[in-house]
Amino acid sequence: VATAVGVDIGGTKVAGGLVTGEGTVLATARRGTPGGSPAETEDAIVAVVEELAAAADRPPLGVGVGAAGWFDRTGDTVLFSPHLAWRGTTLRRDLARRLRLPLWVGNDADAAAWAEYRFGAARGAQLALMITLGTGIGGGIVLGGRLQRGAHGVAGEWGHMRVVPDGRLCACGNRGCWEQYASGTALAQTAREVALNSPAAAAGLLERVAGRADALTGEDVAQAAAAGDALARELIAEVGHWLGQGIADLAAVLDPDVVVIGGGVSALGDAVLGPARERLERALPGRGFRPGPVVVAAALGPQAGLVGAADLVRLEVAAGTGRD
Ligand code: BGC
Ligand code: ZN
Repeated sequence: VATAVGVDIGGTKVAGGLVTGEGTVLATARRGTPGGSPAETEDAIVAVVEELAAAADRPPLGVGVGAAGWFDRTGDTVLFSPHLAWRGTTLRRDLARRLRLPLWVGNDADAAAWAEYRFGAARGAQLALMITLGTGIGGGIVLGGRLQRGAHGVAGEWGHMRVVPDGRLCACGNRGCWEQYASGTALAQTAREVALNSPAAAAGLLERVAGRADALTGEDVAQAAAAGDALARELIAEVGHWLGQGIADLAAVLDPDVVVIGGGVSALGDAVLGPARERLERALPGRGFRPGPVVVAAALGPQAGLVGAADLVRLEVAAGTGRD
């Protein structure tokens, strides 16, 4: 079968897949990005693509790369990344030189939004918003069947809307960004603060990290919640409330019909989505007099980014606009 390679680059890993035209993932490959320097990340991308190409029964028709960075409209340059070392990096040129296949390069959450629109929870949506909850909050917009990238390529970066004046410091350089309150990092941060201030109440969390509050991760909170820890459940619900409030604000601006929640934190399912929907219902401007969006979990789960990137390069190749 004719496959494309999709690659998803987050803060800590490079994940790739060999993807069919129906969005089915036939094989996967993965590398860590330990140092996280641009050169090491590029090496990891090339290694993942080569491994997948070797597994394919014929050469892939292209490579799509969705990365946690802010790209210009052409995808040539990563302007900035809050969580990676890219600053004005010519990622496409560097990859094209080494891969020699048609390339689509762009934001990870944009790719995930596209995948959910094409094959997942946002099929048929008029205006779909993707919100990925991971290290940060990523965003993507599909309007009338087209991915929207804004005038400069950086539309949908609502992880960096200021939701708390003078709030927590963000990796983007500002304070009080939404992703500081409703992401995997936020969950860990709040857990650490509570554990430092109220060790007795946080005993169930602290026993997982030998009493070291600073070592708590979002994953620890998730496991404690699954084991029935009341505080952990409350912390997760709080992330849901922040999420729902942000969705209400986005609805005021964009009026979407579907909001898809993806990224690692969305694996918590209704523990996050339940409180998010509740808050949305109470915070939607004009509630009771207007329709609001449905809020659903990503159907493609953590693979949405790589599936979308693969489909985007496939479409460019089909349209004759794919570049290498
Ligand atoms: C970045 C997004 C990215 C997301 C990934 C955010 O901080 O602004 O571009 O998609 O992190 O978690
Ligand atoms: Zn920020």
